[in-house]
Amino acid sequence: MEQLKQKILNEGKVLSDSVLKVDAFLNHQVDPVLMQQIGEVFSGLFSDAGITKILTLESSGIAPSVMTGLQLGVPVIFARKRKSLTLTDHLYTTEVYSYTKKQTNEISISQDFISNNDIVLVIDDFLANGQAALGLMDLVEQASATLAGIGIVIEKAFQDGGDQLRERGVRVESLASIASLVGGKVTFKENPTL
Ligand code: 5GP
Repeated sequence: MEQLKQKILNEGKVLSDSVLKVDAFLNHQVDPVLMQQIGEVFSGLFSDAGITKILTLESSGIAPSVMTGLQLGVPVIFARKRKSLTLTDHLYTTEVYSYTKKQTNEISISQDFISNNDIVLVIDDFLANGQAALGLMDLVEQASATLAGIGIVIEKAFQDGGDQLRERGVRVESLASIASLVGGKVTFKENPTL
């Protein structure tokens, strides 16, 4: 997705050989026009999948997910990160190790908003080692819902999350795929479908 790649090149900051900071348009300040375009592309990619719900993780997955939900006309659920679970009733819960924060979070969603009739599109901001995506997939499985696929805004293709998910037969669509961040330079991997 060309607009996204330009934004990464112009406003992204390479913090190390493995971490890209995009606080200027996705992770802190949010660019609504770009989010709208992202929503249009995701909804186009998954338009024939019969999606009934979008599932994401707070907080950076919410903006692209809401824009996609608007296009597809379906609700968006964001999994909450909870430190302690005092209320265990009526929740699906799993653990996710955060690559950027180097800590494990318990994430959960209410059982009220997802059921075995749902066809779910999982969306997240980044795909690195796949822990967040696997956690969200676990919640879909606990609900006995159907996973249609995973939409990722920025995939770091040099980390193995994407390969692992695709090897398991999961449909993963990334709007920008980064081959390398070495030397402070962003190099994209070509994506023939976008
Ligand atoms: P994974 O679970 O696939 O290892 O990592 C995905 C999660 O870690 C994303 O939800 C995102 O919040 C965070 N993340 C991983 N790599 C990066 C990165 O290079 N930059 C930013 N801003 N977040 C990242």
